[in-house]
Amino acid sequence: MESSEISRDLTTVLVTEEQIQEKLVELAARIDADYVGKDLLLVGVLKGAVMVMADLSRALTSHVSIDWMAVSSYGAGTKSSGVVQIRKDLDSDLTDRHVLIVEDIIDSGLTLSWLLENFASRGAASIEVCALLRKPEAAKVEIDCKYVGFDIPTDFVVGYGLDFNERYRNLRDVAVLAPHVYA
Ligand code: 5GP
Ligand code: MG
Ligand code: MG
Repeated sequence: MESSEISRDLTTVLVTEEQIQEKLVELAARIDADYVGKDLLLVGVLKGAVMVMADLSRALTSHVSIDWMAVSSYGAGTKSSGVVQIRKDLDSDLTDRHVLIVEDIIDSGLTLSWLLENFASRGAASIEVCALLRKPEAAKVEIDCKYVGFDIPTDFVVGYGLDFNERYRNLRDVAVLAPHVYA
């Protein structure tokens, strides 16, 4: 559990650092096996996926390239705006690449469905998704996510890359943000 000042802002720890690491090792083994002989491009969605990318990519044993994309679908609040905007595009050309999108969380699915469509139009050889967290009950569109870490309830969570107003990204666990913080 996190130390005092921050822990007052949290209600429950949903996924611990240990559980995350164990799960990522498991997912990495599947990814290694699925991409044998293929040149894999990991695309992280900034900024939330930074921690997942760091730990997942280091658990892989094959060669990968890493690129980043920044999009925004959330403003300062806790609800999806539904509007996706590219803030930073990829440096890589996706033509004939095997792409694995690395995400922190799938909530409504709106961001990913937009990204998947966008990437498909760039001529990738294959596109799959790996998300550490997913909120099945919040789905507005179905996302075909091949690698999922944990299905969680619809509460707003922070930590391990996930923020509220740019804070809490540096927590090691994933925890539910106490309503008093954003009420
Ligand atoms: P979606 O488009 O699937 O609704 O979610 C888009 C983005 O919103 C996610 O990639 C994530 O950055 C952010 N998001 C969704 N749910 C949560 C949450 O519970 N906590 C935090 N901190 N961010 C979230
Ligand atoms: Mg994200
Ligand atoms: Mg955010």
